Amino acid sequence: MSFADLGLSDKVLQAVTTAGYTEPTPIQAQAIPHVLARRDVLGIAQTGTGKTAAFTLPMLTMLETGRARARMPRTLILEPTRELAAQVEENFERYGTNHKLNVALIIGGVSFADQDAKLTRGTDVLIATPGRLLDHFERGKLLLTGVELLVIDEADRMLDMGFIPDIERIVKMVPFTRQTLFFSATMPPEIERLADMFLHNPQRVEVARPASTATTIEQRLVATGAEGHEKRKVLRQLIRSASELQNGIIFCNRKRDVAQLQRSLTSHGFNAAALHGDMDQRARMAALDGFRSGEVPLLVASDVAARGLDIPAVSHVFNFDVPHHPEDYVHRIGRTGRAGRSGQAFTLASRTDERSLSAIESLIGQPIAWLDGDLSTVSDEVEGDEPRRRRGSRRAKETSGGESAKSTGRSTETSAAPASESPRRENRSRGGRRPAAERSRAEAPRREPVREPEPVSPPPPREPAREPARNAPERARGERRPPRRDEDGDTPVGLGSHVPAFLLKPTGFGKSK
Ligand code: AMP
Repeated sequence: MSFADLGLSDKVLQAVTTAGYTEPTPIQAQAIPHVLARRDVLGIAQTGTGKTAAFTLPMLTMLETGRARARMPRTLILEPTRELAAQVEENFERYGTNHKLNVALIIGGVSFADQDAKLTRGTDVLIATPGRLLDHFERGKLLLTGVELLVIDEADRMLDMGFIPDIERIVKMVPFTRQTLFFSATMPPEIERLADMFLHNPQRVEVARPASTATTIEQRLVATGAEGHEKRKVLRQLIRSASELQNGIIFCNRKRDVAQLQRSLTSHGFNAAALHGDMDQRARMAALDGFRSGEVPLLVASDVAARGLDIPAVSHVFNFDVPHHPEDYVHRIGRTGRAGRSGQAFTLASRTDERSLSAIESLIGQPIAWLDGDLSTVSDEVEGDEPRRRRGSRRAKETSGGESAKSTGRSTETSAAPASESPRRENRSRGGRRPAAERSRAEAPRREPVREPEPVSPPPPREPAREPARNAPERARGERRPPRRDEDGDTPVGLGSHVPAFLLKPTGFGKSK
């Protein structure tokens, strides 16, 4: 099937060719003809499947006729996060190069005045996050009675983030006769109920959800203590020893840890930016732009802020925290190993993470190999004690299998690196400088690691009322799991200070060749 078979206009087809796409993705092939036939569509697909173009391309075709009126947008796209909204806007820019359409982005964190000016000019496409859209509406600056087409994107995320009441309010403001496109990665009963309410005789299109992780991703668990300073130290070792590190995303479970870790990495000479929900829009965009352009090779991020972002070609993912929800693990590590490229994903795990780890392994249907020594090598004894090794470390290596050792020759090398590197690195941090060529790309050139203790982060601002995470999709599936924690939730209880075994192993790393 080619794009030309889908009924798109010539202008759109030209833009698609310019974008370099030769074939529609499955969600595009299935959804586009129905959208063009003015049917309501229920699309079950997640980011990465090409779903944004599945609605932007037919929308552009349809908007070629008709004109926008002041303050009365013709189409409305609702997105759960500012970044996703900005990404949709970029899609309109990319595919709409041959069109003269007014596209307005209405998101929080930026000035009302500019947004107002755009709305006054007349808007063909209004892309919005629910909160800011309602703010404009309540100020009397916006009328939704002219909306011919409504897109509700990432509905299950909207539910997770507590946006459904806002969405229900907004849907009541748009005409009943509108066309509605509703996209969600999962369809728990609560989302089915909303789809029933919002859609009229919809065409259901579905693409497979990646239940497993890409085979091009080399995954490793790294045993560590639960204390922040221990984890930061292990992370630094990992980054320094990571093979072929081009750029990496470091995921934290909580916003305050994102900010603290970014400051810590910077103070240790790494070039890292932060991305979390409490940053203002300009800072978020600057962080993303720096990372996308390659200027800043490390991005420390929270799940919510990073969700659905289209960042091509990430070589490494580091999970500073094991995610509480196994799906988040799949999302996070899916940032690397895209489009057949190889990628590496390291997850720092402490004893407090054992349940979350089993949930992840059962979701992805395979055990994840330990880099060197499993949790049994992590001592819970007081500092200075020898780390204990137990039976389990052997078990984990066996579970990961001879195969992983064989098939990942590179990984064996990788796994040896931090162990061997550790003592020497620490000596260096106390004493001399390493030659520049030896430094990781992620490290900023001029600065050398400074001492612990880590910088202390200021208390985080309170989360806005609309943001609290909810656990409905999981509950709806009848799964029993710990409640989704707000990013600013309590710090997990630590197990005392210790040094992971692999950091203590003497090896020959750093021998001159
Ligand atoms: P999305 O799922 O909309 O976030 O899209 C994921 C990525 O796929 C984006 O980088 C798009 O530019 C890209 N993409 C969308 N459609 C196609 C296509 N037909 N062929 C190749 N890449 C595509």
